[in-house]
Amino acid sequence: NRYVTIKTQINGKPKESDFEIKSSPLVLSAEPGSNDVVLKNLYVSIDPYQINRMKTYSSTQKTSGYATAITPGQVIDAYGVAKVVASGNPEFEKDDLVVGMITWGEYSVLKGQYILRKLDPMGFSLSYHVGIFGFSGLTAYAGFFEVCKPKKGEKVFVSAASGSVGHLVGQYAKHFGCYVVGSAGSKEKVALLKDKLGFDDAFNYKDEPDLKSALKKYFPDGIDIYFDNVGAEMLEAAVANMNTFGRIAACGVISEYTDASKRAAPDMLEIVYKKITIRGFLAEDFMNLYPDLLSATVDHLRTGTLHTVEDISTGLESIPQAFIGLFHGSNVGKKIVKLVDE
Ligand code: NDP
Repeated sequence: NRYVTIKTQINGKPKESDFEIKSSPLVLSAEPGSNDVVLKNLYVSIDPYQINRMKTYSSTQKTSGYATAITPGQVIDAYGVAKVVASGNPEFEKDDLVVGMITWGEYSVLKGQYILRKLDPMGFSLSYHVGIFGFSGLTAYAGFFEVCKPKKGEKVFVSAASGSVGHLVGQYAKHFGCYVVGSAGSKEKVALLKDKLGFDDAFNYKDEPDLKSALKKYFPDGIDIYFDNVGAEMLEAAVANMNTFGRIAACGVISEYTDASKRAAPDMLEIVYKKITIRGFLAEDFMNLYPDLLSATVDHLRTGTLHTVEDISTGLESIPQAFIGLFHGSNVGKKIVKLVDE
């Protein structure tokens, strides 16, 4: 079984030489009653948070807070879709399609406790179950509706808006009746947001020398909701432009993951005087909203009133580059690696 791992702990932006492909012997069977499952991996998710698991932590700190640390050589667990090859767990049979925490490898051997469920593709591509029907979709849905608590007509700003989570947040917000502006890192991404995904406006943050004045231009009446995917100076600029009782969903801070010196220092006095709520959240705490995500999404996808943008690379070898690309804005929409033709 070939799998991607890190050669060394990564501090800063990841690069190709930080990764290697290793292989280990694989037994394509599972002892009956053992609970073990062997899966052939089909699609794996490529997510920014994994970088936080790859950093150097002190020897006493075994976890990175959100998920366990990854050590060099280790098989890396990741969300994805797979097919059962062998199962000692009565819940799963050979050839079942499953979704859950699999690995950045050709096969996954799961033992003991694992997060996996049978997958009904509902007539959609299997990749949709990694993205829009996976954690990206749930993050966007729960983050917007539960964390931001929107009201119709409110003004919403989304950063990393053409990314996996961001492009869905903006569309849910538009469907709900909000005014939505997104920021993204290229003119092609800006065009996608405005022309295909129905954002009211969008801008390339790399072209803006002063983010505070840029947001003032796009939100002359202030921002009610900021869905923050990036942190750093964008968060500071958003706080400066928030309205009274504004809400900020702290979804992620990708610009800080590879550069701790960029950590945001929002003006706390503005937060006090404007009574702003900043709430961090993890999608995994909102699994109960999964049925709501489906009802808000399935029909719209079928009728074309909601779009999901996917960016799929093929083959195990493409995993390092796919992951590295997240930190350079190479991906448009949900980054996924397809492992086999199925
Ligand atoms: P994306 O698909 O948005 O990919 C990352 C994007 O971030 C890139 O394409 C790039 O777009 C942008 N980016 C990269 N570096 C920077 C930077 N230095 N400054 C500004 N933008 C940058 O990833 P996801 O949608 O999967 O994740 C988005 C955020 O949500 C991340 O912070 C992630 O950790 C978080 N997240 C949180 C979850 C939760 O449960 N709270 C669950 C899933 C994700 P561009 O071209 O616009 O720069």
